[in-house]
Amino acid sequence: QIAKAAQQRGWHLYVVGGAVRDLLLAPENTVVPLKDIDLVVDSFRSSVVDGAGVVLAQQLQQQYPEAELQVHGEFQTAALIWRARAGHAPLMIDIATARTEFYPYPAANPEVEASSIRQDLYRRDFTINALAIRLTSPQPGLLLDFFGGALDLRRRQVRVLHANSFIEDPTRIFRAVRFAVRLGFTLDAQTERFIRYAIDSGIYADLQAQKERRRLPALQTRLKAELSYIFQADYWAQSLGLLDKLGALSCLHPDLSIDAALWRQMHRVGRWRQRFIDAVGRDMGVAPWLMRLEVLLAKLDARSQIATDLQLPLGSIQRLEHLGSTEATLLAQLQPKQLPSDIYQTLETYDIPTLLLASVRYPKRIGTYVWQYATRLIHIKSPIDGYHLKRLGYAPGPTYRQMLTVLTHAALDGHVVSVDSAEAYLKR
Ligand code: ATP
Repeated sequence: QIAKAAQQRGWHLYVVGGAVRDLLLAPENTVVPLKDIDLVVDSFRSSVVDGAGVVLAQQLQQQYPEAELQVHGEFQTAALIWRARAGHAPLMIDIATARTEFYPYPAANPEVEASSIRQDLYRRDFTINALAIRLTSPQPGLLLDFFGGALDLRRRQVRVLHANSFIEDPTRIFRAVRFAVRLGFTLDAQTERFIRYAIDSGIYADLQAQKERRRLPALQTRLKAELSYIFQADYWAQSLGLLDKLGALSCLHPDLSIDAALWRQMHRVGRWRQRFIDAVGRDMGVAPWLMRLEVLLAKLDARSQIATDLQLPLGSIQRLEHLGSTEATLLAQLQPKQLPSDIYQTLETYDIPTLLLASVRYPKRIGTYVWQYATRLIHIKSPIDGYHLKRLGYAPGPTYRQMLTVLTHAALDGHVVSVDSAEAYLKR
């Protein structure tokens, strides 16, 4: 439908990017389930040159009113989104107008200018992502491969399109690693040199020193997205290992690298998080990728500043900001041989993700206490409530709270196990 609409206007329409890559990688005669399809329309600088993608998306939406239309004016792109429904997988079709991009300075967001499909493909990250299939005549189905992407798919390598690519956009380093690990590809040797060169040129230091904050948020948004993809994938450890080997973690902070202890903590946090959820029977509201990222940042003094720059959720920023004092308190107060009520009193002021973050980093003792607290102590209540106290003849008032706290602590330590024992305890 959409190719027909483009054809009628004398435009060319192409499928580009990941969809083409995944189609070419799939064994012959298999159905490739595509969730995310990127289209590019080349309108040959006709009168609606700046909005051709938007025009096509609007037309398609009239035929499929159930799809949601989103227009991103700045980059002349439109997206049609079909949400998941019974029997229908979700689908997103992104329609862009062919464009070139130039970068006024490193790490800036692309400036947009309409241009041909070759230029559009040239601005992309890797040859394997810079392939297009034409959907319009002449030759619908024609593969456009200007940069040797098909050969790289056969050679199973990630190769960048130009030498400055990683300096222009350091998030591409994270993308290169993600694609290499996910697809089981290697990094082309020259590409690896470009990565190392970009890192050695001190991207992070440059950005910080220049206080070039105007464009920094856009870069950080992309970086956060890449980190979330990496940390939520099954292969996160392999990607992180490769990023570390390349020195790419210095994009986050110059002192960031991974030692054996940090590896242990990062593996632990995912396992322990899941164990908590299984034991408690409900989610803790912080995704595994975010917990892994928090553990990674936790060892840095600048952790909360980095979390703020990356625009992480407020809870994460605060957890990292207060981590030092949380850990000092836990280490000081959670001494060996603690009564359950003491453990409870120390830990009740923190939420579970905070305790999890602190416990994966510190001696087993803390982890054991936190586990005991979150899975058992937190559920122990006083066997009698305020209503019951009133029936026993105690006058309502602030002392109620104190009495209930005393009873809860007694219940935690096993002195109070029933209503009768609670009443007896109060009389004492
Ligand atoms: P995935 O299967 O992970 O979605 P994808 O290739 O579709 O892979 P997207 O992040 O959806 O990845 O990006 C779509 C396309 O946009 C890519 O194939 C690539 O051509 C281009 N692209 C995305 N990010 C960048 C970037 N930082 N620099 C250059 N090109 C990019």
